[in-house]
Amino acid sequence: MAQTTIERERHTEERSAYAIAIRQLEAAAHYLNLDRSLLEVLKHPRRELIVNFPVKMDDGSIRVFTGYRVHHNPARGPAKGGIRYHPEVTLDETRALAMWMTWKCAVVNIPYSGAKGGVVCDPKRLSVHELENLTRRYITEISMLIGPESDIPAPDVGTNPQVMAWIMDTYSMHKGYTVPAVVTGKPIAIGGSEGRLEATGRGVMVMAHEALRQLGRTLEGATVAIQGFGNVGSATAKLMHQAGAKVVAISDVRGGIYNPNGLNIPALLHCAGRDGCIQAYRDAELITNEELLELPCDVLVPAALHGVITGHNAERIQARIIVEAANGPVTPDADEILDDRGILVVPDILANAGGVVVSYFEWVQDLQAFFWEEEEVNLKLEKAMRRSYHHVAQTAEQNKVNMRMGAYIIGVNRVAEATTIRGIYP
Ligand code: NAD
Repeated sequence: MAQTTIERERHTEERSAYAIAIRQLEAAAHYLNLDRSLLEVLKHPRRELIVNFPVKMDDGSIRVFTGYRVHHNPARGPAKGGIRYHPEVTLDETRALAMWMTWKCAVVNIPYSGAKGGVVCDPKRLSVHELENLTRRYITEISMLIGPESDIPAPDVGTNPQVMAWIMDTYSMHKGYTVPAVVTGKPIAIGGSEGRLEATGRGVMVMAHEALRQLGRTLEGATVAIQGFGNVGSATAKLMHQAGAKVVAISDVRGGIYNPNGLNIPALLHCAGRDGCIQAYRDAELITNEELLELPCDVLVPAALHGVITGHNAERIQARIIVEAANGPVTPDADEILDDRGILVVPDILANAGGVVVSYFEWVQDLQAFFWEEEEVNLKLEKAMRRSYHHVAQTAEQNKVNMRMGAYIIGVNRVAEATTIRGIYP
């Protein structure tokens, strides 16, 4: 049978994020005894847009940037997914992240399908003005896809509430009226939700708590190492610290710091989002990102990029629990080793779903123009995360599989059911 372009690319990019996503889907399909043709539908993204667009730079020059927006399977609702600004953004990675978003929304049972977008750029090397120009032009280029009923972007690596504000404004300017529900993760002043900024970290904290409880422990006194000190990593550190855990190590792209007696997280939070700042902290040993992953601790939270725990270092991981705050930090080879060693992995499509759950709350509030108090947002988020954790743990136990496969069985099954019930058009 002739291969599609995507299938050919998949075979040539063996270590790609998309190849990993496909491998995980195929494993879940096996447990679900999924029909082969349905599996083919689920393997393919529904649509992929590549845009090359010019941006006026501060020195008067013009630079051409490449951006992507991918929609995976639209069966369960409008497309939802973050926008990443990073020099290593690729179409392959964007595809994988879109597929993971589909399963994630289904695992926590919110009515969205998966999407992802990104621009190949280093936001740290752009001025605020250049970043705004780039964002407004990228959004204009992908405007045939986005909208409050079709595709609702959100923040991811390298983007933040200010970028979301420019997205909302650009889309609204084109429409001629204000459309807050076109994007989530916005500042509160323009229709953002209370609790959104810390939502992914709060979800990660709740997942760590539930995993520790499963092992007869609590967060109080548990030692935690966190890779990445951006939006997700810093909120996780703050909330873990507030819950009584001892955060012993954190890192950013330049490296990490470690103190087995615990770090002063309130002091370090002044560094959040500023790469290189945490290394100036005095009361700790400087370590590399690789060393951080292998520290003795109760909970390890990778909160930076994908593919950091692999077949090469999985044997050396000493944590009892890994909570995947980042998307795809543990490769399938590593998964097998960690499983054999009895390390509990709370998978990304569950562990970092707190962000999209509160993004969903933000969208609902924008559509109704009726806003909730932070306490209500946090309570609803924690309830949704706890319910999902126990559903996944139960499914894993019933099927005698790990938590990742438990989550995939739930997510893929819900999407497969919706796809089947809707039928194939025409
Ligand atoms: P961010 O840009 O705010 O922070 C990223 C952090 O990772 C920074 O501290 C940066 O210095 C560090 N980093 C970058 N490259 C690194 C490298 N090569 N090695 C070590 N550290 C590195 O991004 P974020 O929004 O916190 O996202 C982090 C992860 O969480 C990503 O995988 C993202 O997809 C995932 N995630 C984010 C959200 C959200 O709401 N922002 C939701 C779900 C999942």
